[in-house]
Formats: sequence, C-alpha cells, structure tokens
Amino acid sequence: MFLKFLVPPVSKVIRHFSICQLPQELQTIQKTCRSFADRELKPVASDLDRTGQFPGDQIAKLADLGFMRITVTPEYGGSGLTMLALSIIVEELSRGCGSTGSIVSIHNCLYANLLNRVGTTEQKKSFFGKYSSSDIGAFALSESDAGSDVAALSTRAVEDGDSWILNGDKAWVTSAAEAKCAVVFATVNPSLKYKGIAAFLLDFENTKGLTIGRKEDKLGIRATSTCNLHLENVRIPRSNLLGTVNGGFRMAMEQLDRARIGIASQALGIAQGALETATQYAAQRIAFGKPLLNQASVQTRIAEMALKIECTRLLVRKAAVEIDQGLRATRSCAMAKWHAGETATFAAHNCQQIMGGMGFVKDMPAERFYRDARITEIYGGVTDVQKTIVAEHVIKELGVK
Ligand SMILES: Cc1cc2nc3c(=O)[nH]c(=O)nc-3n(C[C@H](O)[C@H](O)[C@H](O)COP(=O)(O)OP(=O)(O)OC[C@H]3O[C@@H](n4cnc5c(N)ncnc54)[C@H](O)[C@@H]3O)c2cc1C
Repeated sequence: MFLKFLVPPVSKVIRHFSICQLPQELQTIQKTCRSFADRELKPVASDLDRTGQFPGDQIAKLADLGFMRITVTPEYGGSGLTMLALSIIVEELSRGCGSTGSIVSIHNCLYANLLNRVGTTEQKKSFFGKYSSSDIGAFALSESDAGSDVAALSTRAVEDGDSWILNGDKAWVTSAAEAKCAVVFATVNPSLKYKGIAAFLLDFENTKGLTIGRKEDKLGIRATSTCNLHLENVRIPRSNLLGTVNGGFRMAMEQLDRARIGIASQALGIAQGALETATQYAAQRIAFGKPLLNQASVQTRIAEMALKIECTRLLVRKAAVEIDQGLRATRSCAMAKWHAGETATFAAHNCQQIMGGMGFVKDMPAERFYRDARITEIYGGVTDVQKTIVAEHVIKELGVK
C-alpha cells in the first residue's frame, strides 16, 4: 500500500507540524491527492453529479492508495495517519468532486476512525478483517425526529440472551445504499434520555429485518446515497455493542468533533475549487476589451474568497492538530466547521457571479460547487448549533456564568 512506505509514524508528523508549512510527508500526500483529483475526479465529477452514480472505481483506487482507512492502525490494514493528513486528503479530493470528498470523509471520520478508536480487538479484527478497505461503513445516528436534538432518538435496543434486538428507523444515512455495515445508535433505556444511548455494529448483508430505504433526491453531493434504515426485530450478536451500554451519546459527540474536521475539509476543497475556477475563467473572458481579471470588482471578489479560504485552512488544521494531540477540541472543531461551511457557500456564490451566465449552467462546475457547498452547513451539525457550541465555550472560558 502506497502510504505505508511513505509516511512516518503519527508522533513525528505532529512534532513537525508548522502553521506555515506542511512537513514534507504531508506535502507528498497533498500532491498525490491533488493530481488524483485532477486526473480521476475532475473529468467525471459533472457526470457523477448528473447521474447520481456512486464513484465505485474511484473509491477502489483511493482504497489502494490507503485513503479509505486513513487513521486506522496498520495492524488493521490502515495507513496510521493523523487527522491533519485526513483533512488534507479530503480537501484535495473535494476540490475535484464534492461527492467523492463527502464519501471519503464520512466513511473515514464516522466509521473507520470510530471503530479503530473505540472498538475491541475482536471487533476490529472482525469488521476490518471481513471487509476490504474499499468497502464502505456508515454512521446511523440521526432520525426523522432527532437531528440536531439527537438525544431524542427513539430506535430501541433490547437485550435478549446473547443478542441485541433493534427496532426503529434511522434517517439520512450517508452511503447507506453501498455500505456493507454501519454503526447504529439506539436507546437501551429511554428514561435515562441521552445517558441511555448505546452504539452497535450492524452488518448490512443477510441481516433479517433490515430494510434500506430509497435514495433521497438531493440538491447537492448527488453522487452520494442518503437513505433511511428500517430496523424491525433485527437481531445482532451481543458482542456487537460498541463501547459501553450507556456511553453511546458521549461517543457520538466525540466522533462528531472529528467528523466536523472532515466536513470542514470538504467545504475547504469546494471553496478552493471555486476560487481556481473563477480565477481561470476571469483570466480568459474578455469584456469591455480586457480580461475580467483586470476589473477591480472581480479582483476584490477573488481576494475576499482567498482570505476566507486561508482563514478556514488555518482553523481546520488547528482543530485537526488538537485532535492529533489528544485534546477534546470541540470548540475548535465547531469553529472550523462553521467557518468552512460559510466559506464554501461564499466562494461558490462568488465563483458563479464572476462567471455570469456560465456560472448558471451545467457546462461549468460553478453551479455544482454552489449546490455541493450547502450540505457542509447542514450535516454533522447545522451552523446554528456550531455557533451555540462556540458561545457556550466562550462564556465558560470568560467565567461569565
Ligand atoms: C445529505 C445528508 C447526509 C446526512 N448524513 C448523515 C449520516 O451519515 N448520519 C447521520 O446520522 N446523519 C446524517 N445526516 C443528518 C444531519 O446530520 C442532520 O440533517 C442535521 O444534524 C440537522 O438535523 P435536522 O435535519 O433534523 O434539522 P433540525 O434539527 O430540525 O434543524 C433545522 C434548523 O433549526 C434550527 N435549529 C435546530 N436546533 C437548533 C439549536 N439547538 N440551536 C439553534 N438553531 C437550531 C437551525 O436553523 C437548523 O438549521 C445527513 C443529512 C443530510 C441532509
């Protein structure tokens, strides 16, 4: 596997992290992903978006490069890299295709990293062993009546001898149509509210009582599948409990911190793609006898996009390094996701504006950037919730309450 030979141990990467320049190893990963995005993603991104087809060939190639188990320890077939490396990989891939960036981000942050982090040796051997690195794992936390208020989830888990029986409906599960398995959250004791929630490993194939719903018809990231899961007396082995019986909510919140780094990186890549597209277009488009790029108002838009992107990159990398250093980093992850989502929307909007009519048609990627950007302000926790998290931390830090 490509990365195994290239990348030094995690501790070395963290020690060498500089706010101004990435260490050589990460620069190499960045270049590899950038050229992959240019070669394998940009030429097909528009078609994938139009057809809604899962990028299976591309995911298989990314798995060969070690990018589908980025932070998983080598013992379990992973690349043993950091969240900082994950951030760089997702950013570069999303620059080429927001859907592929989303699939890689959600699978790595919310399934592979979670299993690697909290799974028992047996669970890791079993799930990383029976599935190949190109096989997708999903994360089923949300329900139709429990999105931002996820503690209100009602899917029920009941012990029955050597099994757990799951009943309920999960909503909005990314990659559900292609996934081989998922981490599913359910309540073991509803009267305990969030303290009664637990997480379970669920195989998708040959599981009686599991129905995967239709694919949602979405505005953006159209090459990703998003489906409901219907669980009717689904029996899973007792050993598939992930973590502790009442520890699921905390586990989910800790994992969402990590997911926010992935989603912020996806947003960053979309924003960077929009900046590059707009600048290249403005250099070629002649209006009033000169390239658009010579117009002060166009330059201002480009400068504003570049500033917001640079700020976002610093925030995202700071959050990733904090996680890599073993810090909880909830505040930094929330700030990064909030700023990155707004930056992606801002950059895509300005890209469209600079391109005029060509920003509005499907011949050019601007309108796709615009549609793909929106999800980064919604999933993994809406922007308003990120603001609440930041405010709560600031109020506590200042000792105002
Ligand atoms: C394409 C897609 C993929 C997804 N993938 C997954 C997945 O793989 N796994 C998974 O578990 N979930 C997934 N989700 C679910 C996603 O995380 C939720 O949609 C999101 O957390 C928001 O929940 P909600 O849709 O119920 O909106 P609501 O919670 O109803 O919020 C709607 C709006 O109400 C306001 N609001 C709500 N609560 C607050 C608050 N506390 N403070 C301030 N304002 C508030 C905000 O303006 C917010 O935008 C996905 C969703 C989509 C659309």
